[in-house]
Amino acid sequence: MKEKKFLGKIRQDPLEALAKGPKEVMASLWQEYLQEVLNASQKSRRFQTVRRQIEEKANFQEIYRDWNQMDVEARAAAWKGLIGAAKDVLWAGWETCVRCGECCELGSPTLLAPDLALFQKEILTWNEVYTLRPGEQVTNREGKPETLREERLKIREVPGSTQCWFYLAATNSCRIYADRPEQCRRQECWGEETPPPAPGELLNREVILARVPEVWDLVQAHEERCHLGRVLQALKTLETEPDTASEALFEALHFDHYLRQMLQQEWELSPAATEFILGRPLTRFLKDHGINAALTPEGTFRLTPRCE
Ligand code: SF4
Ligand code: SF4
Repeated sequence: MKEKKFLGKIRQDPLEALAKGPKEVMASLWQEYLQEVLNASQKSRRFQTVRRQIEEKANFQEIYRDWNQMDVEARAAAWKGLIGAAKDVLWAGWETCVRCGECCELGSPTLLAPDLALFQKEILTWNEVYTLRPGEQVTNREGKPETLREERLKIREVPGSTQCWFYLAATNSCRIYADRPEQCRRQECWGEETPPPAPGELLNREVILARVPEVWDLVQAHEERCHLGRVLQALKTLETEPDTASEALFEALHFDHYLRQMLQQEWELSPAATEFILGRPLTRFLKDHGINAALTPEGTFRLTPRCE
């Protein structure tokens, strides 16, 4: 007679199913058990990481391979071993970060006041962090656009992705885990959602640049000439007051562009470091607001509506 394949949910008593059923039944019951005790989405990286840890500890692959040949006593002992391994792993710390990396792929942290120490220890440099100035548009936790009221410093993302700069996808690991920023330490994906940091907790450029007054002076001069609130105001009045609005925009664009150039050519800073000192280029801000600002060979800017 052709052997029947297990195709679905177990409808009989689980213990009887374990005693009599094939390995597929055991695997299905195991899956249900893990789902119940881990209480997390099976698709989450965290679930998969903990599951792997438990199954490695209990030699699940071997149990699964040999299950159909086991007698009832051997099956009972093997199942007990699986449950014991699950308890050991969970008691050792389900409510801790299992370093699955899922949150590291979804975004990089915003820096908070205690992260100043990471600059002092040179774990972080100006090359790994960028500034979002007040007025920048970001996507909030609910996935809606939001205009920033306060300055934020963020770890850079891998270009073209949301993945944190320090995350190594090949090994699912963080390059600075022992010294990871405060927001990463506060992340508790297993519990209640961590509240967003209060404005007073945010780290800012002024604190980091306190000992480099010549750079802080440049930051202030840049804020004065390229304030995002004023740039936005100029954009809004481009149609009604084209001359005044264009002049304000060109002035801000030139200052922003040539100051970045000076920082790179004369101070030999990297383009990344200029995004920490001055925030993201103004051309990028305009792009987010539907305007392309292209530098002409004559060294001035030409503004055109952005075509998607
Ligand atoms: S905090 Fe992040 S890395 Fe840690 S287990 Fe949760 S999702 Fe994974
Ligand atoms: S700093 Fe490390 S722990 Fe924090 S998001 Fe980046 S890779 Fe993850």
